[in-house]
Amino acid sequence: MPKQKVIVVGLGAHGSSTAYHLASRGIEVMGIDQYHPPHSMGSSHGPSRVFREAYKEGPDYVPFLRRARELWNRLNTDSGMHSFEVTGGLFMGPPTGFAMTEMQATSKIHDVEVEILTPAEVRKRFPVFRIPDGWEAIYEVNSSTIFPEVAVEAHLSLAAKAGADLHYDERVEGWSAGPSGVTVRTSRGEYRADRLVLTAGVWMPELLAGLGLPLTVERVTLWMIKPRANAEWFMPGKCPNASWELGERYPLYLQADYGTGVKVALDHHGTPTTAETVNRETTDEDREKIFKEIRRFVPDLDGEVLDSAVCMYTNTPDLNFVVDHHPEHENVIVASVCSGHGFKFAPVMGEILADLATEGSSRFDLDMFSAKRFG
Ligand SMILES: Cc1cc2nc3c(=O)[nH]c(=O)nc-3n(C[C@H](O)[C@H](O)[C@H](O)COP(=O)(O)OP(=O)(O)OC[C@H]3O[C@@H](n4cnc5c(N)ncnc54)[C@H](O)[C@@H]3O)c2cc1C
Repeated sequence: MPKQKVIVVGLGAHGSSTAYHLASRGIEVMGIDQYHPPHSMGSSHGPSRVFREAYKEGPDYVPFLRRARELWNRLNTDSGMHSFEVTGGLFMGPPTGFAMTEMQATSKIHDVEVEILTPAEVRKRFPVFRIPDGWEAIYEVNSSTIFPEVAVEAHLSLAAKAGADLHYDERVEGWSAGPSGVTVRTSRGEYRADRLVLTAGVWMPELLAGLGLPLTVERVTLWMIKPRANAEWFMPGKCPNASWELGERYPLYLQADYGTGVKVALDHHGTPTTAETVNRETTDEDREKIFKEIRRFVPDLDGEVLDSAVCMYTNTPDLNFVVDHHPEHENVIVASVCSGHGFKFAPVMGEILADLATEGSSRFDLDMFSAKRFG
């Protein structure tokens, strides 16, 4: 039987993992990226990402998370690079709010190891965090931190070692598919393969133009800050991933200082944009928006900004991912694994996308990620 060939377009969080899983199965894989990942033009840059299992987005995510955790640990071992570690996570909000309610429901269903803390207990254990009276906190013992740029590098280096043909600084300008295979046209040439996997992040709307998937892009900012006091409480080992629910659903969150400052960001408080027109500079308005919440919840972090960055989410209307065969081409697989919470799934999504490209199906139930659910 002739060897299958798969082209993966986009080698960020999910494409790098897909290229690795395909290559490690002996599949002939070509990966193409318009830049040289890891880079800071899409969704996968910055010092850290949060991994959590008491999933407010729903209990159906937990089987994916459990497999992702296994694969993150394996990635550390196989690559010899450190892209994942357990740090604990403290999630705070009103007890009847969306996050607290959904996190507790998911924890119960899947037996996630959590402790429920009162505000007084939070203040005692984490004195630099402010929590309003009447709120509640969930401490997730095995919440973890991912180092996203290391993770992309680790997957790409293992993919290359397993024989993947990785093309950097080469832009895909178009693709077509038919029963006999796919053709990908780039800034350097044209390539044929049996299957195509599209993992192009915020550029997916361009590559899928005409399909009518309701993908929108959101500009968000992240901040690396030197605490003005009590810096030791923000160091790894003492500082868990922490978040404070704001308003209806979305939090202010921070992660420990791994040498470049404490990472702080606001989830889903951004503005609509596109990959091509986004303002890549952070503004005074962005800064004021985040510092307003920092002064309220973590006043010791009202310190010097060491760095800041613009990053982008690709959102679906229900904030679940798209992982499916292209509705018109069975041999094209489309993956938009973001909506602001996709990084933690990178290893398991790579495995699933490799399954879809080679076997045509996955052992996971992918209904909630169907491309057809939008009608
Ligand atoms: C600030 C911020 C914080 C986040 N925090 C978390 C978190 O704590 N936990 C979590 O789980 N998730 C988090 N996320 C979400 C997570 O980072 C994303 O889900 C993930 O990075 C998406 O990866 P991707 O592979 O889809 O996109 P990317 O990593 O951006 O990769 C897409 C790649 O495709 C390439 N490409 C696109 N078009 C073309 C083309 N035409 N030709 C060639 N190459 C192309 C791009 O160059 C890029 O390298 C966060 C996101 C942001 C922005």
